[in-house]
Amino acid sequence: MREIAQLGAEVLRQKAEAVADVHVAEIRQIISDMQATLAGTQGVGIAAPQISESKRIMIVASRPTPRYPHAPQMAPTVMINPAFEALSDHKEKDWEGCLSIPGIRALVPRYREILIRYTDQQGERVELRLDGFVARVFQHEYDHLEGRVYLDSVEDNRDIVSESEYFKLMDIQSH
Ligand code: ZN
Repeated sequence: MREIAQLGAEVLRQKAEAVADVHVAEIRQIISDMQATLAGTQGVGIAAPQISESKRIMIVASRPTPRYPHAPQMAPTVMINPAFEALSDHKEKDWEGCLSIPGIRALVPRYREILIRYTDQQGERVELRLDGFVARVFQHEYDHLEGRVYLDSVEDNRDIVSESEYFKLMDIQSH
């Protein structure tokens, strides 16, 4: 498990480097460290800059956790050199948090439906259509590769809340 870079760390504001060869030991090690680090958290995704590696690698791993009780279950998916395009201009706002920004949550507008492309760990190109929460996780992690964090996309400071208030809000909404 590696330490998670926290907001203010320079690496979270850098544009990450493309991966030239997925088979080299350095890249394999980064991926395995990302998997181990994510497994030790309640997060639903992680990007390489979050373990202080400025490489275009991310893992999308939607699963229900106490942090995201309504997240759909999927196998953790390693995405190298990812890209995406919106399939419609329609964005919706929903809650996000980030392991690099503990203690707060915010409503973030994201494209609802996207077409993504990435290289998998075997070096194969993959193309997939994503929507809803998983598309949201993808866009959140992708932002990390561009040196952005989700707070950059918040429309209004009033959409930012403390995690304790967020949990109260979720409790009220689920009853
Ligand atoms: Zn994040």
